[in-house]
Amino acid sequence: MSGCIFCEIVDGRAPCEKVYEDDLSLAFMDIFPVAPGHTLVIPKRHAKDIFEIDAASLAAVSRTSQQLAHCIRKALAPDGVMVMQLNGAAAGQTVFHYHTHLIPRAEGSSLALQPRVPGQPGELSALAGRIRLGLE
Ligand code: AMP
Ligand code: ZN
Repeated sequence: MSGCIFCEIVDGRAPCEKVYEDDLSLAFMDIFPVAPGHTLVIPKRHAKDIFEIDAASLAAVSRTSQQLAHCIRKALAPDGVMVMQLNGAAAGQTVFHYHTHLIPRAEGSSLALQPRVPGQPGELSALAGRIRLGLE
């Protein structure tokens, strides 16, 4: 969809630090990570939210989210991994192309989606590389 940053990433018109892709889904590092290793999983086909996404894309995003949760646990050994998905501005959604967040969590850390410190390209790339190792 024109004007959608995640569609631009799918089409290769915008950059991303890719972690994984298959026919229906794509995973890449969040550029404003809440915690190191914060990864997004999106459907390649544009859908705004959980109300719009088709069943095959939803299944693919769920499968990929589970696979990458395993990879994040293997690579970063966090105390927990939060899988989060927001629908509508009132729920905090800011990019209106369906996505799940995979956020490594430390014991006692706040559940708020803060802080939002821009990830350094080198650091995002190194983390993506470590997470990708779990796919092998
Ligand atoms: P949400 O609030 O669930 O809509 O989250 C959107 C997420 O997309 C935020 O965590 C942003 O940091 C992230 N984001 C926005 N633009 C990009 C981009 N170009 N590359 C990677 N992540 C992005
Ligand atoms: Zn889109």
